[in-house]
Amino acid sequence: MNLIVVDEKEVDLTYIMLKKEAESGGYFLNPDPEFTKNLVRGLMKNEKRYGYRACPCRLASGKKDEDLDIICPCNYRDPDLNDFGACYCALYVNEAVAGGKKQSEPVPERRPPRSERGKKRPMPTGSAFPASTLAFPVWRCTVCGYLCAREQPPEICPVCKAKKERFERFI
Ligand code: SF4
Repeated sequence: MNLIVVDEKEVDLTYIMLKKEAESGGYFLNPDPEFTKNLVRGLMKNEKRYGYRACPCRLASGKKDEDLDIICPCNYRDPDLNDFGACYCALYVNEAVAGGKKQSEPVPERRPPRSERGKKRPMPTGSAFPASTLAFPVWRCTVCGYLCAREQPPEICPVCKAKKERFERFI
């Protein structure tokens, strides 16, 4: 078996960077540094294994297109933070959990079965802004829901730092 080893200094640096990034977007990492660094280690191992940071608590396929929804931060983080106070792995927690005022709850798997993945929800009909009247297309970050109207989505989501590939055409 091929054992993947990551440099512990890099783990520390990545942890600090993720913490900074999270806080600049209004998110929080789990306040337990050892637990959190272990997840960061898992992310870094997956990055070496697959070339992207697949969720350390889920089985990735190794095909980026199929795993886009579980590249960290995954598409399910925000609803899980709302409903349970933590993401599925508990790498990210809400403010109350981060501040020790609440405990996070167990988080059930929200990822749909393979056959249901990637299906778009239909747009409501009779929109006040029909696509044909807009000067620019509107792009939506599938991780945090950030919307922007421009020719192309941004390289990095300014809120959650997800990459361009995580945007979908919204209108
Ligand atoms: S945000 Fe999603 S991908 Fe990242 S650690 Fe949490 S559950 Fe896993």
